[in-house]
Amino acid sequence: MSELERFRMLIGGKGVDAISGRTFESQNPYTGRPWAVVPDGGPADVDAAVAAARSALGGEWGAMTGFARAALLRRLADLVTENAERLARLEVDDSGKLYREMIGQLGGMGGWYHYFAGLADKLEGRQIPVPNPDHLVYTRREPVGVVAAITPWNSPLLLMTWKLAPALAAGCTLVIKPSEHSPVSTLGFAELIEQAGFPPGVVNVVCGLSREVGAALAGHPGVDKVAFTGSTATGRAVAHAAAENLHKVTLELGGKSPQIVFPDADLHAAANGLVAGVFAATGQTCMAGSRLIVHESVHDELVALIAARAATIRLGDPHAADTEMGPVANGPQYEKVLGHLRTALAEGATVAAGGAADADLGGYFVRPTVLTGVTPGSTVVREEVFGPVLAVLPFTDEDEALELANDTPYGLAGAVWTKDVHRAHRVAAKLRAGTVWINAYRVVAPSVPFGGFGQSGLGRENGAAAMDEYTENKSVWVELTGGTRDPFTLG
Ligand code: NAD
Repeated sequence: MSELERFRMLIGGKGVDAISGRTFESQNPYTGRPWAVVPDGGPADVDAAVAAARSALGGEWGAMTGFARAALLRRLADLVTENAERLARLEVDDSGKLYREMIGQLGGMGGWYHYFAGLADKLEGRQIPVPNPDHLVYTRREPVGVVAAITPWNSPLLLMTWKLAPALAAGCTLVIKPSEHSPVSTLGFAELIEQAGFPPGVVNVVCGLSREVGAALAGHPGVDKVAFTGSTATGRAVAHAAAENLHKVTLELGGKSPQIVFPDADLHAAANGLVAGVFAATGQTCMAGSRLIVHESVHDELVALIAARAATIRLGDPHAADTEMGPVANGPQYEKVLGHLRTALAEGATVAAGGAADADLGGYFVRPTVLTGVTPGSTVVREEVFGPVLAVLPFTDEDEALELANDTPYGLAGAVWTKDVHRAHRVAAKLRAGTVWINAYRVVAPSVPFGGFGQSGLGRENGAAAMDEYTENKSVWVELTGGTRDPFTLG
């Protein structure tokens, strides 16, 4: 026990243990052993965090200008960059992410805080012409209030940042709740909040082993908005809770994103994009390009290219510089991925690569898998696996490709691979997805909106419009004459 690292929650500007005094151990999915001890918070801790966030709204923070908030955000950006190595290590040890990916992600994460710092001092209202004589009308952009930011285990700090940066820029306060499977990096990040100089209570972090903690926060009457990233099933529960309280809500949910490859595409580039889309991060990304829809004339050649690359992907220690794929992030997810493989085989899929766990390595390793011989109705084509599993469907013409691609309740992302510029944009326009890449995959930026159609979510994160999700628009009417009017008519 003594060698385990210890972390605390952040409530009202103080590092705190759970009110109950309980703790739980976070597991390292590579070693399969506990490596950190964290507070096991509950609804009482959520109450304290929400109270701290609400009180901070009315204090020093509430009186700050956007210029002052921007300065704090820039300081936070620099601290994230200075602490990139430590934060990357916390992500790796807590969720098995690759160090090589995390150090790059953390190195760029400051960019999100800088981008939203640039918007904090540009929250302009408008002066609106009205037909009513002798009145001046202008609008004000005001913070929504207390934001509950609930995040999943697959990319805790990046997905938190997509909420935290715009919410702070808008002048909101937050209670952040990381996943029970990967709470540590968020608790480590919280240590930077005070160093950056944010007043106490502006950012609070609670965590707990029970999913009751997320439910208590999502349904808390002291919260004004819930920003959630996670599964579609939990997103639905969050939406119900938000509806009950009439809270605002943004939801970033699951996906089953298609990558369409036309016969004129650069097949080597497409194969590389497919590997990036579904095997990077062990396929545990919401935007995983998990359905390959490929023209029948190049089906065999492309599958052979991807299968050959899949067979040489280096699985292993996520800290090692030459490792390309780490373990699945936790036990339940590992069992879920293996269950999907069993179902796919039982439904008649053919394994072109992988298809099983890699037991030799210990930990939760699954070999990068390519499945052919599936149909549009196969479970592996319809359901999100959230693991390194690619399902391949052939098509004969563009209409069929689009029909297959859009045959899903999800709509988070997709890609089209072709050298024909007309076809590229035509197909991009017809794909029902929040993000479409042309001859690329898995590229994001703070300035570009991200979110889903259909069951992939509600609202957008990133981009200037994200500020709308964290602000209320207030209309102010000013009577200019000082006189009175007939009180029984509408002005
Ligand atoms: P999850 O839905 O199980 O949990 C997400 C978070 O919600 C966790 O912090 C959890 O503790 C909390 N939670 C649990 N029950 C809750 C409740 N009733 N009310 C409020 N919060 C509750 O998701 P996960 O398994 O951690 O993450 C994987 C899922 O997230 C995948 O489906 C993936 O596609 C999705 N995801 C989406 C995006 C996106 O941007 N669209 C990004 C990453 C992950």
